[in-house]
Amino acid sequence: MTPTLRNEIRRLALILVAALILSLLIDSIWPAFIAMLGCVIFSTRQLIRLSRWLITYERTQSAPPESKGAWGDLFDRLYHLLRREKSARHELEFLMTRAESSITALRDAIVVVDRQGRLEYWNRAADKLLGFKAPHDKQQTLTNLIRDPRFAHYLKEGSFDHPLTLPSPADEHRMLEFTITRFGAGDWLVIVRDVTRLHNLEQMRKDFVGNVSHELKTPLTVLKGYLETLMDSVPAEQKRIHRALLQMNQQSQRMEALINDLLLLARLEGTEPDLDTERLALAPMLRRLRQDGLAMATDKQQEIQLEVAPGAALLGNPAELHSAFANLVTNAVKYTPAGGKISIRWWEDASGGHLAVSDNGVGIDAEHIPRLTERFYRPDASRVTQTGGTGLGLAIVKHVLLRHDATLTIQSQPERGSTFTCHFPDHRLASEDTVASA
Ligand code: ADP
Repeated sequence: MTPTLRNEIRRLALILVAALILSLLIDSIWPAFIAMLGCVIFSTRQLIRLSRWLITYERTQSAPPESKGAWGDLFDRLYHLLRREKSARHELEFLMTRAESSITALRDAIVVVDRQGRLEYWNRAADKLLGFKAPHDKQQTLTNLIRDPRFAHYLKEGSFDHPLTLPSPADEHRMLEFTITRFGAGDWLVIVRDVTRLHNLEQMRKDFVGNVSHELKTPLTVLKGYLETLMDSVPAEQKRIHRALLQMNQQSQRMEALINDLLLLARLEGTEPDLDTERLALAPMLRRLRQDGLAMATDKQQEIQLEVAPGAALLGNPAELHSAFANLVTNAVKYTPAGGKISIRWWEDASGGHLAVSDNGVGIDAEHIPRLTERFYRPDASRVTQTGGTGLGLAIVKHVLLRHDATLTIQSQPERGSTFTCHFPDHRLASEDTVASA
């Protein structure tokens, strides 16, 4: 309680007590009655003044009516409160205007979508990049305006760790990159960048690699054909020529493997993943891969164990998955010395399906592991000549997994061995048990 209010109450109490005593002394109700009436009239008048002032304040911003005592104090406090609120509001408005004008000036499109997927706000760049039209499109569903099935699929999946690149709904020659962040109570912030230039450059690179590899195929086939004929026709006594032809043949085979891998990578990068998937039974495929692994290096006498449930199956592209798993098994055979142990294991748990290829071979230093899936990245150049790899195997594995919503983890210790594990999400599983319980 403020001192002014305390004084006011004291004064009022004094007046009322004095009026009461006077009433008792002269034995009449009038002094008390007049005092109380005076108090009521005074308070009502002040209330009317307060209410009038408040009604006109919004319009006139005038100072409060002159008043003394507790009422004057109340008017002043209210006045300060209103002024403070007004300046806070101005500050907020200023900040909002600045934020809005900076968002409007952005070259990236910013779209705010509510939890029902309806458009709440978008900036000017969104008009240009996505073809939104205000106010017509307000409250429209985002998937109604961006009708690409890949976008609907991306939203349905709900994992926004990686951005999505799509042609603009307003101009199919413009490539856009969508990044989605959730905020508030299930709302989404969609940021859209124009990546046409980057996309075109990337496309040029892919086309170039693809075209060069394709163009090299024919001359190489001719060379290989002649080499084989020459090897057959040169007498075995001409050892030097024979050795040279043998090496030329080996190198041409490497070149062929390289071209095939480059073409496969170009195809994996350049085409959209199949939305219509096939059911791939894993047990027979992994059994074949085990046999191929054993046949690859009969002289090494390696042991390859296989663990897979008979009904295990995956949804995806069988050829791509076969090529990814074959790369892992081939690597395990290549990088495990004679007598080594390799295991291929498939299992399913609450987080999905997993295929692990382990070996107790040469292993890899931890510093190289994050870069292994880059094209031509080799921790140890001397291994290449020994193993004859193309340096593209793990890049192919990574791309195939990406196209199947799967990931690759690598655990390895030098001289102890390595484990390469492919992790598939639930919706890619088609094992008999899963199908039966679905
Ligand atoms: P490469 O054709 O050289 O085998 P990859 O892309 O398949 O190309 O593998 C990249 C590199 O990763 C290899 O050069 C090798 O050093 C390493 N690597 C792959 N698999 C294994 C493994 N099982 N054990 C040890 N090192 C491996």
